Amino acid sequence: MGRRTLNGRCRRNSHMKRRITVIGTGRMGAALALAFLARGHAVTVWNRTVSKAKPLEAQGVRVASSLDDAIAGADIVVGNVSDYATTTALLAPSAMTEALRGKLFVQLATGTPRHAKDAAAWARAHGILYLDGAIMATPNFIGQSGCTILYSGEKELFDANAPVFAALGGNAVYLGVDIGHANALDAAILTVLWGSLFGTWHAAAICEAEGFPLDAFASTLGATLPVLEGAMKDSVERIAKRRFAADETTMSSVETCHASVRLIHAIGQEHGIHLGLSEALEVIFARASDGGRGTHDMAAVYQGMKG
Ligand code: NAP
Repeated sequence: MGRRTLNGRCRRNSHMKRRITVIGTGRMGAALALAFLARGHAVTVWNRTVSKAKPLEAQGVRVASSLDDAIAGADIVVGNVSDYATTTALLAPSAMTEALRGKLFVQLATGTPRHAKDAAAWARAHGILYLDGAIMATPNFIGQSGCTILYSGEKELFDANAPVFAALGGNAVYLGVDIGHANALDAAILTVLWGSLFGTWHAAAICEAEGFPLDAFASTLGATLPVLEGAMKDSVERIAKRRFAADETTMSSVETCHASVRLIHAIGQEHGIHLGLSEALEVIFARASDGGRGTHDMAAVYQGMKG
């Protein structure tokens, strides 16, 4: 006998192939559709610009001509247009909410925790099962073992559909029932990514201004990354334990780090490098130094990050 499942369909086991609709076939949506297809699922897509989705047909994907038709034939619907506002607008008509009723909708567009909470409330109001996800990879990683995708929402809903999510990558991570957590962790990790990349771009500008070869910069940068990784881990541990005073394991004080920021700023001024990054660092370091935390562990800078 089949049994009733958490995406509103009757099936015999969790490995059964599903009918999956992907809304949005941009760079990421097309990769998601093909990854589901590669695992033997029946895949339908809908895209605003139909011509962009058409090439997927040759690979065995059905391209629906209307969104309600795409949703009607699905067991699971995955959203991957640009953002939540676009998704909300597309799914607002009653034809869409009726077609989605009782089905699982997985939102994989990038958004904030607030976006996820609002989307979950909308789904609840229309009898739609909802999971929120965040893709921590570029399209070329989709379907590979190293691809991490974060999910938030009801655990039973995630567990029941985990074999389906496995198609998208080997590292499907369930974060818990708080629907905002996938987007919260996504934003947190993106902040680290942007901080590192902005630092890299500013660093390249310093090297070029001083005539230092960029290939040598890249190789030396690689050699120093373990130091950065150690400082990141130590900082997060200190923040979690509120251990900001300098102690026997302190690697550097606020004032020592602040001095190096002033030097970076001075080099930028000399060479006409954009000062946005060093000015932002200066403001944050000044809060710690002026707040009497100059001799504290460098992680004490965190105390000025809020309020
Ligand atoms: P993309 O290539 O620019 O594709 C955007 C998609 O959204 C297209 O399908 C586009 O349809 C659709 N769209 C935009 N505005 C629309 C509207 N008003 N009505 C209907 N459809 C609309 O972007 P992407 O890289 O695939 O990203 C999609 C989502 O995945 C984003 O939330 C992004 O943050 C997230 N993501 C992307 C990556 C990545 O590396 N690319 C990584 C992680 C997460 P048309 O084809 O008709 O324009």
